[in-house]
Amino acid sequence: MARKESQIDIGDLKPLVRGIRAGDRAVLARAITLVESRRVDHQRAAHQLVQELLPHAGKGMRVGITGAPGAGKSATIDTLGTYLTGKGHKVAVLAVDPSSTRSGGSILGDKTRMPRLAADASAFVRPSPASGTLGGVAAKTRETMLLCEAAGHDVVLVETVGIGQSETTVADMSDFFLVLMLPGAGDELQGLKKGIVELADMIAVNKADGDNVARAKAAAAEYRAALHILAPRSSHWQPPVIAYSALTGQGIDQLWDQVLVHHKAMTKAGELAARRRAQQVKWMWSMLEERLFARLKSDPVLNAKLPRIETEVANGTLSPMLAVTQIAEALGL
Ligand code: GDP
Repeated sequence: MARKESQIDIGDLKPLVRGIRAGDRAVLARAITLVESRRVDHQRAAHQLVQELLPHAGKGMRVGITGAPGAGKSATIDTLGTYLTGKGHKVAVLAVDPSSTRSGGSILGDKTRMPRLAADASAFVRPSPASGTLGGVAAKTRETMLLCEAAGHDVVLVETVGIGQSETTVADMSDFFLVLMLPGAGDELQGLKKGIVELADMIAVNKADGDNVARAKAAAAEYRAALHILAPRSSHWQPPVIAYSALTGQGIDQLWDQVLVHHKAMTKAGELAARRRAQQVKWMWSMLEERLFARLKSDPVLNAKLPRIETEVANGTLSPMLAVTQIAEALGL
């Protein structure tokens, strides 16, 4: 039976480390609960735990997956994940959705959304951490990813909703960023405008089945042409565009093959390691920013002054530059 958060013995992390290393799913789940806890002592223990497991993490292939609601993210993850466990992989499915809660929200990663994977002993499906800032949710997902890798999951799929900054955030924790599209969703190039496609390592047009096959192929051709105009992010990788069906599984093997080809090419070029190094450093800075900002927001002296400063800036009686100086001075900076 899963123990409650408050019962976690944080005095001794060794059993947690051992359990995770042994691939014990119940222990992994408990450790993630620790990571997600807001209690200060839990946070401290979680950081220590992640630090201890760091040498055993990093061996997973990290694949970020995005797409508008209805694009077929859950169906794709269910089909792809099952395909991968069938090939002997251990798959972890995580999510970044700052709007989600345990009881509702768009990404639950639960049994109903991914029925086959949820029942698969080689898969570990974890919903998005409960709502918080994007930075907070992403930090917990990153730490969770490391724990999953240390537990032997060699493929980590990180899902996100097609909203705002969450896509950039997930791209920043992935080796491969997969953008799912729908055929005939009106404007085929809608994704290009949003700048998401610039993050994409591949575009996959889903629902290429039944009457939809021709439309999906046409959409894929349009994206292909459009991508050729964009300068690729890497000189070693031109993002491919494929059409597939999560429903029938047609093309899922081809989809995964591209992830493998990319992995090989990027590893050979040294870009994979470089990408991860840059991601680590960026993560450090974003956490530091978040922490400094939290400190700033909780400063009593500053809080007394902020409403006035804001009003004056809004009215144009105080310049934003001078306002920043006043805020910095209140913080003793
Ligand atoms: P999500 O919101 O991106 O997670 O999308 P879902 O995976 O929930 O899929 C949205 C709807 O599209 C559901 O009704 C799925 O059954 C359906 N769907 C998903 N993939 C396919 C597919 O490959 N072919 C067809 N025909 N329908 C699909």
